Amino acid sequence: MTMNRRDLLIRGGGTAAALATGAVASPASAQAQQPPTQWNREVDVVVVGSGATGLPAAIAAKEAGASVLLVEAQPHVGGHARVSGGNVPLGGGTSVQKKYGIEDSPDLVFKDLTDWSVVQPNGFPDYRYNDREVIRAFADNSAATFEWLLAHGVVFVDKPPDRRGGSSVGNSVLRTMHCAPMDWPLIQTGRPANAEARTTMSTGNGLMPPLDAAARKAGVEYLLEHKMTAIYRQSPTSGRVLGIAADNKGARVDIRARRAVIIATGGHTGNVNFRRMFDPRLTEEYCGLAGMPYSDQDGSGEIAAMAINASLWGLFNQTSETGSGLTKAGQIGTQYGYVNLRWMPGSPVFDKARATGLRVTDWQNVILVNMLGQRFYDETGRQFIANNYKGVDPYVHGHYLNAKNVKYDPNNLLNAALAGIGDAHNGGGPIWAIFDSDAVAREKWEPKPPNVDVDGGFFFSADTVAELAKKIVMKYQRVPMPPGNLEAAVGRYNTFVDVGRDYDFGKPRPLHMIRKPPFYAAWSTPVLHDTRAGLRINGRCQVVDMNGEVIAGLYCGGETAGGFGLHGLARCTCQGVIAGKQAAAESARADLR
Ligand SMILES: Cc1cc2nc3c(=O)[nH]c(=O)nc-3n(C[C@H](O)[C@H](O)[C@H](O)COP(=O)(O)OP(=O)(O)OC[C@H]3O[C@@H](n4cnc5c(N)ncnc54)[C@H](O)[C@@H]3O)c2cc1C
Repeated sequence: MTMNRRDLLIRGGGTAAALATGAVASPASAQAQQPPTQWNREVDVVVVGSGATGLPAAIAAKEAGASVLLVEAQPHVGGHARVSGGNVPLGGGTSVQKKYGIEDSPDLVFKDLTDWSVVQPNGFPDYRYNDREVIRAFADNSAATFEWLLAHGVVFVDKPPDRRGGSSVGNSVLRTMHCAPMDWPLIQTGRPANAEARTTMSTGNGLMPPLDAAARKAGVEYLLEHKMTAIYRQSPTSGRVLGIAADNKGARVDIRARRAVIIATGGHTGNVNFRRMFDPRLTEEYCGLAGMPYSDQDGSGEIAAMAINASLWGLFNQTSETGSGLTKAGQIGTQYGYVNLRWMPGSPVFDKARATGLRVTDWQNVILVNMLGQRFYDETGRQFIANNYKGVDPYVHGHYLNAKNVKYDPNNLLNAALAGIGDAHNGGGPIWAIFDSDAVAREKWEPKPPNVDVDGGFFFSADTVAELAKKIVMKYQRVPMPPGNLEAAVGRYNTFVDVGRDYDFGKPRPLHMIRKPPFYAAWSTPVLHDTRAGLRINGRCQVVDMNGEVIAGLYCGGETAGGFGLHGLARCTCQGVIAGKQAAAESARADLR
């Protein structure tokens, strides 16, 4: 539903003044705002964001008796959750775990997700910095959330829980279930999956459309294309939360929440300045965010809440080299190269994605170079990994031997890619995959649109290596690539193939020369995936301020919340249900304006 100007004027003159001020700062105001004297809309609970946290929150609040308005920036519902892999590691004794004889309990989930002794082969701990209160709430509500999803129309692939696609989900038992798309159209293709895949593939297309349908059936009201830009408290930085401001195509809409506001805006990977507070290297060229262009993560939830004194929390989890926060590109020659997400012609957002990308099946077929045309690492190197079932084996909870038994084996492809070119700039700059027409044949690629993004500057070709280097001109290539450098890199690599040894970076036996024109350069810059730190919340998903006090009437969950290093859907859906129920249980404060 969208509102017209007349709808906005339900409370007289104050709104007209608000409208006259027009658009509000983007992504959200970092300044606390005076609450309006007149409101455009009024409900019990306002939920901001319609993704993995927001839709469950909205349904739970509505079913608990509150009137609910779901405010969503995009013209469509579902957020990153819609395009996700639909792998949902909810455990603690679900009906499916019981069916397959997997013994799990809330206590085991809690122990797993707070075990200090589990570290990755790169030395990073998955669980050490998790907030105990937040994890306890997740552990206690995990199995119930799984049953809640079933009851609200989500169909899971009919097989035992496994370890596929979940990350940092605990070492002790199998927990991951997979959402089946059934007849829902896949947002990546615009069509339903083929008959066999409808019940066997795992996708967020099997999670969000049924929840969307359940929310509409329950009577949740939607405001699409409304972007929250501020949260109002009684006085700008103190007192109860009264509501939000949203921007609808330049017009401000002030929405009062009689009981509570739930922030479910999904993190900050898309906000360059915000993400650089955690990692200064993450400059503008990291523009290939997983989940985009379906929805963005611009940190507006965190920024609006910080403006009214909310605290951030658990920041290590964001920079920890664990799981999929930062990933190696899986498709090259496109801006959006996240390994598990391909945009196909037919997708409703393909005009924004512009290209599908070339899926790399064997990194022996390319070399990777930086802006200066220099190799920097073994191209077959992996991205970060994460702990999962039997990631440590043998495993004894909290035992010093767990860390000792891990074979130290850091994989630093991503760190080398982000290292920069030795000048005073942060960020590694674009990373280019360089290959020849023999590689195209081996990979069975068709290096032309819509498979690659030529117009956007994410793919180039030329008849010589030197010409190729000269052609690489695009907005993130802030220095020209010296043709001699690229020629030298290709020539040296070819000699390595000749002798069967990579003397520079130890690539296991380099296999293929790069020598048959045409030559190609395809965007292969690391991809940002998800957010694992955000606003401080307690076990009820209430937002906590810089003094450790609850901000009355404000809730948060999912990627916008901190204290929990678990990847994705399980924590988001679980916290959504918790926040929705808690928000609805607040008493309506009609006395506060
Ligand atoms: C390609 C991909 C694959 C993934 N696969 C998996 C997987 O298999 N398993 C797993 O556990 N996790 C997976 N994830 C992660 C998971 O999808 C996310 O962690 C989860 O969706 C986050 O939920 P959320 O509610 O916090 O945010 P989202 O689901 O992104 O929802 C946030 C919503 O808020 C809206 N919004 C943002 N700002 C505003 C604002 N100011 N005003 C109004 N609305 C706003 C957004 O448009 C969006 O609709 C995947 C993610 C991606 C991108």
